[in-house]
Amino acid sequence: MSLRTLESLGSLAGKRVVVRCDLNVPLKDGVITDDGRVQASLPTLNALINQGARVVVISHLGRPKGEPDPQYSLEPVAQRLSELLGKPVVFAGDTVGDAAKEAVDGLQDGDVALLENLRFNPGETSKDDAERAEFAGRLAAFGDAFVSDGFGVVHRKQASVYELAQALPSAAGLLIAAELDVLDRLTENPERPYTVVLGGSKVSDKLGVIGHLLPRVDALCIGGGMLFTFLAAQGHKVGASLLEADQIDTVRSYLAKADELGVEIVLPSDVVVAEAFSADAAHEVRPADDIEGSPWGEKGIGLDIGPETAAVFAAKIAGARTVFWNGPMGVFELAPFAAGTKAVAQALTEVDGLAVVGGGDSAAAVRALGFSDEQFGHISTGGGASLEFLEGKALPGLEALGWEPAS
Ligand code: ADP
Ligand code: MG
Repeated sequence: MSLRTLESLGSLAGKRVVVRCDLNVPLKDGVITDDGRVQASLPTLNALINQGARVVVISHLGRPKGEPDPQYSLEPVAQRLSELLGKPVVFAGDTVGDAAKEAVDGLQDGDVALLENLRFNPGETSKDDAERAEFAGRLAAFGDAFVSDGFGVVHRKQASVYELAQALPSAAGLLIAAELDVLDRLTENPERPYTVVLGGSKVSDKLGVIGHLLPRVDALCIGGGMLFTFLAAQGHKVGASLLEADQIDTVRSYLAKADELGVEIVLPSDVVVAEAFSADAAHEVRPADDIEGSPWGEKGIGLDIGPETAAVFAAKIAGARTVFWNGPMGVFELAPFAAGTKAVAQALTEVDGLAVVGGGDSAAAVRALGFSDEQFGHISTGGGASLEFLEGKALPGLEALGWEPAS
């Protein structure tokens, strides 16, 4: 079976349609700093509005602990969504309570309501199947149909992602369909050379994908926080840089496997080492095998790939026909350590072929560094979800929509 599309739901005119979006945007002091995920949810919402559906939008924001927490309210998102849709969005102050019921009951054809943060309710992320099903049932009472479009959460077995898709006639929205299209192009006969660039800080989370990718790619460039575990695996000292010592053996096995397969793992030859984790910290470029030779010895912290490495990665990227990039090359949030990430982003814009950026922070980084979405083949809204897809894992939120992994 393949993914059920919006059309499979038939005419939705006059129907109440619950739509699971991923509106988990970065907020600073109540202001949205990157509205990419809101933008990405517009095509599906507009399609439903244009059909005359009564649209009930649900989403999570951040990681509240199963109870209301004002700093994670979706209210600022309702306002932004309203601006982008060019029409009012009714905001309900709870998710399945009286406010939500009132908002849903008041909808006319083509109207939109956004319910408060799903994760203010323990049932959303509960480990208990029955609790999740119970919460999904309360959400299902608001709709005649369900559209799942939160690509960033399809790898989660959560009430609004998994159980809700079973409680109502359900289908994937346009964002999920578009994301899967691109991921299919990355997995089924990608044009070669195929280069993957990995970085970021969630090292152990991301190592798993390497084992799966190695037989499929031509080159794998390693930057960001995970590079230090690779350097350590080669016997180098990494000072106070991010290191997951318990992963060194795994990394060694990847290096050996890459050798066997003739796949190139491109590791940094130089690193920017700083005295401290701050924008005004003293820093210098060090050879990757002599990080502790800096004036700060074993206290020095590697916060970016060096310029020589950035040039090598850029050439590997620009010369490829297919590129997938996840994870910033350095702490791009601090200006002195953004150069590596910027060089990699620039190289992706020059690819003659398919260049995909995946990951919340990676997407935010390219925008913060002044690139526009149109310069890339695709910017994925889901880092974890796209990595798990590339790993070949079963994604509960997609399986609930009829999708099956290619064997
Ligand atoms: P994504 O959201 O794109 O999947 P991650 O969440 O894994 O990426 O990682 C993003 C974070 O990684 C950024 O906040 C960045 O500052 C951090 N980072 C990158 N390089 C380093 C490094 N050398 N040391 C510590 N943190 C790093
Ligand atoms: Mg992240």
